[in-house]
Amino acid sequence: MKAYDSIYINGAWVSSTGTDTAEVVDSATEAVIGSVPMGTSADVDAAVAAARAAFDSWSNTPVDIRAKYLRDVGAALTARYDDIVSTISAEVGSPKIFSQFVQAGLSLGEWESFAALVENYEFEQTVGNSLVVREPIGVVAAITPWNYPLYLIICKVVPALAAGCTVVLKPSEITPLNAYILTEVLHEVGLPAGVFNLVPGTGPVVGAALSAHPEVDMVSFTGSGRAGAEVTKAAAATVKRVGLELGGKSANIVLDDADPTAVAMGAVFGSFINGGQTCSALTRLLVPESRKQEYIDAVVEEASKVQLVDPAADEMDIFHVMGPMSSKVHQGRVQEFIRKGIEEGATLALGGPDQPADFPTGFYVQPTVFVDVTPDMTIAQEEIFGPVLSIITYTDEDNAVEIANGTIYGLAGAVQSADVERAKGVARRMRTGQVDINGGAFNPAAPFGGYKQSGNTRERGRWGLEEFLETKSIQLP
Ligand code: NAD
Repeated sequence: MKAYDSIYINGAWVSSTGTDTAEVVDSATEAVIGSVPMGTSADVDAAVAAARAAFDSWSNTPVDIRAKYLRDVGAALTARYDDIVSTISAEVGSPKIFSQFVQAGLSLGEWESFAALVENYEFEQTVGNSLVVREPIGVVAAITPWNYPLYLIICKVVPALAAGCTVVLKPSEITPLNAYILTEVLHEVGLPAGVFNLVPGTGPVVGAALSAHPEVDMVSFTGSGRAGAEVTKAAAATVKRVGLELGGKSANIVLDDADPTAVAMGAVFGSFINGGQTCSALTRLLVPESRKQEYIDAVVEEASKVQLVDPAADEMDIFHVMGPMSSKVHQGRVQEFIRKGIEEGATLALGGPDQPADFPTGFYVQPTVFVDVTPDMTIAQEEIFGPVLSIITYTDEDNAVEIANGTIYGLAGAVQSADVERAKGVARRMRTGQVDINGGAFNPAAPFGGYKQSGNTRERGRWGLEEFLETKSIQLP
């Protein structure tokens, strides 16, 4: 049991001004495994004041010294690897092997990447008689979700600190424990007081107070479109920058020359990744009418190999294991979408809405595949955020692109084809922030973000750093 009774402001562990706490629940056992304070708007005021006061000094700290802090944090966090893995497996429900390679693995690499990036970044350039300089935007509020809790915190905190910004973090109230590990490490490394502050709490209290705060220069938000719109409204009165990373309903377009076995592997892993609780999950599989049955058979066979597992267990096959959903509320939401799919006339090829018989305890959902899905159905339009794959048929390439682009989202996508040039042509027509061809691997140095209602920013790599920079032109005589 990890019972935290403090929040972190101005380089010190202090009590919240409020008395509310939130319990953290193990997704597989349903046992309470921790609790954290739920902060208040007065806590936000104190944290923002600390971040504001630290900004002048941190933004003027030479880049090589900021980079050294990042490297020191990366090393100290790596020493907490096992703790990170077990904490995230319990909070989120990710199988241990997934927490090792993805949840923890991705989180550790960013510190060195951004240290090297910022050391080599050209903060100044000359344009005619102007010196154009890039400067840190100021105090950043980072508001983050629960699905990749530490990695998505790090995608904000690392570039913000590298840029010279100071930060107030509000992690998801469902998965706050990993944020405490990070904060303990930042404290241990001796980051100057006020440069990083942690105020856990709910969205409507702490998130809303940060979004509206006049001394916050930027909100960097990852989460649902609903909350992203609330943040934007609350931030509007102070005209601060709002970076949004939101949901998706990404299409995986199978061209008629693609190999069914390869398609099946990528389709199943790409849609069920982290139990489908992935913003860029490839949740709509678009197959050509002419070869529909071959692809459906291969995908259903592959999906039926996916095993539900205890997240704490040592499993070796990362491609075929799935843990529970992160919370009971979310499990119910996913099951409701599956019922809706059946009601609206889609055919279940695998899985279903009931609690899996082998797992009466824990927030498990059966790996589910629907066929006979039409593009207008709820399960083809809305983000389910669970292990539910919808297979949709198309007539020709134009029709495939039209269906792929036919949702409010535009986060990710994929194209499968024996001809990479043909696939690239289709990828260019997709209105999304990223497209993977034939299983092209996730690249943490490439920009990530959405078109349309999937967001308005880019994280990762140089683009992720630039989100936290202002631009000034100095005209020389
Ligand atoms: P959520 O929107 O419920 O919560 C995200 C964060 O916003 C939490 O910290 C929450 O407390 C806070 N919040 C909620 N209401 C708020 C308000 N009114 N003002 C300020 N903050 C508020 O999302 P979630 O359920 O935690 O995460 C799942 C969603 O996140 C999915 O839609 C998923 O696609 C999206 N997501 C997007 C990306 C991306 O990079 N594009 C990555 C991961 C998750």
